[in-house]
Amino acid sequence: MKLFACTCALVLIAAVSHVHAQTVVDAKALSDQEQGANWLAYGRNFYEQRYSPLTQIDTESVAKLGLQWSMPLPDDHSLLGTPIVVDGVMYFSGSWSVTRAVDARTGKLLWEYDPESIKHAGDRLRNMWDSNRGLAYWKGTLVICTIDGRLIALDAKTGKPRWSTQTTDPSKPLYISGHPKVFRGLVFIGNGGTEHGAARGYVSAYHITSGKLAWKWYVVPGNPADGFEDPSQEMAAETWTGEWWKLGGGGNVWNGITYDPEFNQVLIGTGNGSPWNRKVRSPGGGDNLFLCSVVALDADTGKYKWHYQTVPGETWDYNSSMDIVLADLEIDGKPVKAALHAPKNGFFYVLDRSDGKLLSTEAFAKVTWATGIDPKTGRPIEREGARYEDGEELIWPSPFGAHGWHAMSYSPKTGLAYIPKQEIPAVFNDTEVKMVDWRSPYFTLDPAVNMGLDGDVPKDVATSSLLAWDPIRQTKVWEVAQPEFWNAGTMVTAGDLVFQGGVTGEFAAYHARTGEKLWSVNVGSGISAPPITYEVDGRQYVSLLVGFGGAGVSVAGGTALAQFGWSYRAQERQLYTFALDGKAPMPKVGAPLVPKPVVPADFKIDSGLAKKGADLYVGQCVWCHGSGAVSGGYGPDLRASPVPLSFDAFKAVVVGGAKVLPYGMPKFADLRDDELKSLQHYLRQQAEAGAKAAQAAAAK
Ligand code: CA
Repeated sequence: MKLFACTCALVLIAAVSHVHAQTVVDAKALSDQEQGANWLAYGRNFYEQRYSPLTQIDTESVAKLGLQWSMPLPDDHSLLGTPIVVDGVMYFSGSWSVTRAVDARTGKLLWEYDPESIKHAGDRLRNMWDSNRGLAYWKGTLVICTIDGRLIALDAKTGKPRWSTQTTDPSKPLYISGHPKVFRGLVFIGNGGTEHGAARGYVSAYHITSGKLAWKWYVVPGNPADGFEDPSQEMAAETWTGEWWKLGGGGNVWNGITYDPEFNQVLIGTGNGSPWNRKVRSPGGGDNLFLCSVVALDADTGKYKWHYQTVPGETWDYNSSMDIVLADLEIDGKPVKAALHAPKNGFFYVLDRSDGKLLSTEAFAKVTWATGIDPKTGRPIEREGARYEDGEELIWPSPFGAHGWHAMSYSPKTGLAYIPKQEIPAVFNDTEVKMVDWRSPYFTLDPAVNMGLDGDVPKDVATSSLLAWDPIRQTKVWEVAQPEFWNAGTMVTAGDLVFQGGVTGEFAAYHARTGEKLWSVNVGSGISAPPITYEVDGRQYVSLLVGFGGAGVSVAGGTALAQFGWSYRAQERQLYTFALDGKAPMPKVGAPLVPKPVVPADFKIDSGLAKKGADLYVGQCVWCHGSGAVSGGYGPDLRASPVPLSFDAFKAVVVGGAKVLPYGMPKFADLRDDELKSLQHYLRQQAEAGAKAAQAAAAK
């Protein structure tokens, strides 16, 4: 009897050894910092550290890192996402949230699911086009989100949809470019878009089994006459003035969502106000809660717990939407459950997660809007003139932030945070804005402050770096300068390596303690996504999606980014996976191409029409086609495109929607012929300026 039982157990073990362990992805797995084989969530697990305990690839062995496999993604454009790996299967979302499962050892496609976002999105394509940053996994269910505001649950084995829930009001300009989070059987999501039209920011949680709403919390208060949803709204309303609810208020949570298992709370980084300019939004002043804050909500009920506002009375688009990282720190000899946050405004914050108290903060980049943060009150000490109250004002950072959505990482081993930092200034000027009758036109961007988006972004106007920051001492440990800006998110490993890609197309590994560059490869295209690492059958892999894009590339891009030649559709998008002794050849993705502006001899530019066209362009087109009509590589460069040269062709595409499918070029059915003509004149004016600049550069 005893012998029989023993034999049986052996057979079972032998059978199991041929298949991968079946990980139950639940709260326990997502709280486990020790296992490194899987990458279970956007920031690897609940802690959002993007830290892997794997050590096979380390500071010594990284020299032998080579391409193991690559997967061409010819129909994708922007690839911004963080893949997830569970038991040797990789899941990732690409343009318009098209989702794929592949064998993580070989790149073999297992299934593909297309949520048909273009067909659903309609006008929402105008704001964030194809952007999507990732997905979530919970007990065999994969959750994706779409630009048109849907959450969709898929069977992770087959890719078949289980449920789909519309999380936004389709009559509002709200979209989802972010990623969902799952905890305790709930799927949690925010949205973007309140700066494209009057809307209130909110977050909501849905049951993972049914897609039914569990709870919802508003970031900004509504009209007090309608009553408040909860006491936190009443408290927030005290900090607003005027009739803010008519403009929506803003504050949406499009990124920066962290589940904190130790306090069973969700930490959200909230957005800026709508419009940006507080004089319009809340004319009598006020802090405007809960804009630009880290807010803690009870994970089960959505009830407000605490908040810390990084920018009271925000007026520069300094949202706090950047990632929130959980870390166990020792400060003044005491253990602290901390939240690390480096938002756009240029300050690095360490918060106590038990009550939201500010423990410390220092500027990690050039900051001129404030001279510091008062440690007693936790409030910024604003510089006079910073609110552009005296007219035009040059300010650091710009609305693109000293740190954008490109995630930072944190190594508990080195105790350092690794931040993709950028230094971009901006000129703020609202002297021509009509404060009294300002109304945001639907589905366009009008921040009620002139940002000069009708002009190019020249080379060398900005700088960037990979910054290693000590959160306890609040000081820089090392910094590696990088060209231009918009460098991508980082990952750090127990092998003491920091991995990061950037705008030059170089994917590199740096020594986590010194910043020494130890390995790099040119992937033939600009990189906008952060890497991940995982292990299958005892082998460590590093994976990265490569597809230059995201709206920031275009709006902030201009010549500064266009110079690298990552032109719209000129380079084939790829998923790359590297391993030690990987010997696969690098794919040929297409040579760099800097678009050449077309200057037809018979087109007479009317400067009055061009001026009118510039205003339309900034409101409607800049989001995808770039500042000053110079595309940073997201959408086509319209100065070089043949389409705007012919009025009929231009109208067919812009008004008629001839390229809605398959390229997702949205339809602007409401544009009149005279408006289209003015856009043509603006584009030709920019083309001429671009051609002259190129000639001058060549003559040098
Ligand atoms: Ca914003």
